[in-house]
Amino acid sequence: MIDDVRLTRPSGLALRVALRQSSRSARLLIEQISVGRFRKKVTEWFRKNGRDLPWRRTRDPYAILVSEMMCQQTQVGTVAPYFARWMTRFPDCRTLAEATEHDVMGLWQGLGYYSRARNLHAAAKAVMERGGVFPRELEGIRELPGVGRYTAGAVAAFAYDDAAALVDGNVARLLARVFGVREAIDGSGLRKVWELAEGLQPARGGRVFNGGLMEIGALVCTPRGPRCGECPVAEFCIAASTGLQGEIPVTKARRKTVRVEEWCGLFVREGEVLLELQQGTRWRGLWKLPKLEEIPERKPELAIEYPFTHHRVRLSVYRMRAPRTNLAGREWFAIEGIKDVPMAAGHRRALEKLTKPCGRAGAGGIEGLPPMRTTPGQASRQ
Ligand code: SF4
Repeated sequence: MIDDVRLTRPSGLALRVALRQSSRSARLLIEQISVGRFRKKVTEWFRKNGRDLPWRRTRDPYAILVSEMMCQQTQVGTVAPYFARWMTRFPDCRTLAEATEHDVMGLWQGLGYYSRARNLHAAAKAVMERGGVFPRELEGIRELPGVGRYTAGAVAAFAYDDAAALVDGNVARLLARVFGVREAIDGSGLRKVWELAEGLQPARGGRVFNGGLMEIGALVCTPRGPRCGECPVAEFCIAASTGLQGEIPVTKARRKTVRVEEWCGLFVREGEVLLELQQGTRWRGLWKLPKLEEIPERKPELAIEYPFTHHRVRLSVYRMRAPRTNLAGREWFAIEGIKDVPMAAGHRRALEKLTKPCGRAGAGGIEGLPPMRTTPGQASRQ
């Protein structure tokens, strides 16, 4: 532990020290510390402080793959109920491989980034094509659809206890600070951070060591206000000893938010609403309110905004007369059962607002539509 951890702006000397550090190779950086002691600190801390998460109680590679896919871009607290529902409905690769895309997307809806659900589905099918045997080696895991370097490492470490490096945002930040990496961790510095993670791996016990790195990054070495006074690896940390916690990690400039407009129709008939099945890579398998070819010259029934990756979408919904015939890809759904229909989150939120008993700013909802029911724990985000 260190007591005197500076969080003020670093001196010119400190910056020069850190810059000198950052130009060294990962191997040289690792040689400067007692790696055995570093590993011991991480593992001891994790055994005492690691959270009891549902996916940490299993060694099943399929369950770990599911949890890792779900945890990408999503907070652990949000994932937990989805993970429980998923493992009840699809307890193994076989049940998932045999499911329809509609069922898979329905269970995933609200978690956002739907390509993860499609990839999991494809990965389960790939395992079944190989006789239902989940790959044992890192290379084999990485060949599964949608499985990148991080996810393969996580499955190998957590399911098989392999000394497989894995670098997520938390680990990258932690290692960048400990070793004073001044290159962008989402750019040129990423390679060095991976080399550091690989060089630090113990011969055995990848599960606890990697779990410890991730957990320290998540709970102690947080993006803002890292708790250096409680950090088990503070004695090794260049950022803390030079007062550079606020400067490291370096990241590339964030992408600008792009504003997008959507104009959709609310078509209603006797408790049913018309939805349109989406195609293409981004929304495939999800339903939305039908897109309008022409924008009506009147105020929309509802206008809301929702975020989508680096976009900010403004969705305007116009009440329209129900068509006599349906276009291909459009179907009527009973509003009462719509909670089970995989819908894009922004459109689900619009429907929820439109069908509230006192909805539309107290105007009394939409005539002919009962209120929507939602599944507990369903998150309205993309
Ligand atoms: S690793 Fe993070 S929390 Fe630990 S001492 Fe360094 S900056 Fe502080």
